[in-house]
Amino acid sequence: MTVQTLKSLADALAQKKVSSRELASQYLDRIKAINPAINAFITVDRDGALAAADLADKAIAAGNAAALTGVPIAHKDIFCTEGVLTTCGSKMLSNFVSPYDAHVVSQLKVAGTVSLGKTNLDEFAMGSTSESSFYGAVKNPWKLDRVPGGSSGGSAAAVAAGMVPAATGTDTGGSIRQPAGLCGITGIKPTYGVVSRYGMIAYASSLDQGGPMAHTAEDCALLLNHMAGFDARDSTSLERPVEDYTADLNKPLQGLRIGLPKEYFGDGLAEDVRTAIEGALAELRKLGATTVEVSLPNTHLAIPAYYVIAPAEASSNLSRFDGVRYGHRAAQYKDLAEMYSKSRAEGFGGEVKRRILVGAYVLSHGYYDAYYIKAQQLRCLIAQDFQQALQSCDIIAGPVAPTAAWGLGQMADDPVQMYLADIYTIAVNLAGLPALSTPAGFSNEGLPVGLQLIGNYFGEARLLGAAHQLQQATDWHLRTPDIG
Ligand code: GLN
Repeated sequence: MTVQTLKSLADALAQKKVSSRELASQYLDRIKAINPAINAFITVDRDGALAAADLADKAIAAGNAAALTGVPIAHKDIFCTEGVLTTCGSKMLSNFVSPYDAHVVSQLKVAGTVSLGKTNLDEFAMGSTSESSFYGAVKNPWKLDRVPGGSSGGSAAAVAAGMVPAATGTDTGGSIRQPAGLCGITGIKPTYGVVSRYGMIAYASSLDQGGPMAHTAEDCALLLNHMAGFDARDSTSLERPVEDYTADLNKPLQGLRIGLPKEYFGDGLAEDVRTAIEGALAELRKLGATTVEVSLPNTHLAIPAYYVIAPAEASSNLSRFDGVRYGHRAAQYKDLAEMYSKSRAEGFGGEVKRRILVGAYVLSHGYYDAYYIKAQQLRCLIAQDFQQALQSCDIIAGPVAPTAAWGLGQMADDPVQMYLADIYTIAVNLAGLPALSTPAGFSNEGLPVGLQLIGNYFGEARLLGAAHQLQQATDWHLRTPDIG
């Protein structure tokens, strides 16, 4: 298998070397052959994809093509898609056909993309392994007994396995960057507020942010150009001038100051991951960047703060799933209260219930000040740490995750161990900053390692530029798993 970038496919379509229908059919065939082993898709929309591809071919023939007309993509099954099952990986929404498109979905339709289907995820995006889905665990294409990371593990695995050239993801505490890192692809979480959350089923609203996942930084930039932008339907969407995220792709790295937080290179970082990250940093230095040590002293407080704030918001957001308006309803109940409780007991899985209980607890009278307010105060300190560090550097670099992909089921009985695996990604969401993951070599076992680049607010173009320059000088992003 050789990597097909979105850019190369868009060029081939524009030059009429291939039709959109041919492309969609090739990818749909590969999904049919490979997905049973990987389980990256919940829904494959063959008919919808072929119909959209035919429309794209007509637009190309008529000279009406938009930037991405005819290129196949897939959407994480947390984005509402009109007329297509939208499950969030939950039994609760296993019968929900959305009546409307999420902003991101409609924007990418306008740009001409053809959606092949919906990718698997941790239930309601809660997790770091993509094992908690009602539709079964996703497997890492690099080693089928390993997790692909989560929660956007279906999107990451689908791209890594060549089942689709690019996909959407969402990142509340690392869910774009960590699976991108564990599957050897590129993914960016934009600044909070850059991508509209309208139609993106809410987990923790003050942290959730959608973004692209693809083989290359260039492809992510092309997608982000269409995903970003003001949307009045999301009250936290930022009204800013339209930006071109490809603007810095060819900017040399001469003079770029990269901060290395000492807390991201301490105990707990696997030696083979450290070696890979140091290799990638050496490449960046060869390209003209300099590195300087910085400190993010409140790093150890990020996970405790996140696991108060995220469950609190989740308990509130998920209260809408009550068996009345949409979603699963228990078959038998004796009164309204039992209908609610049985529907929710049957519809939600274990991790989701754990978060709802924790969230309801920390928001309850008497504990609100002790936990929720404290966590919000820590959030402030964590955001200040980044501003302090960014005084002496332009971007921050470090690992995405402390280890390469671990075994399926390995953390099943130990949620705290799973929570700790997000130590390098979660603080970024608490601060609302943009950050990406780009391939940075391989572990001792030959599994991908991701390098994380974190920028200041609205620094997406610079981050994508740095990743693109690294990708021009290395071939880690072009390696593919051996799955036929
Ligand atoms: N692993 C984190 C959690 O379970 C982050 C997930 C995400 O970013 N959606 O909350």
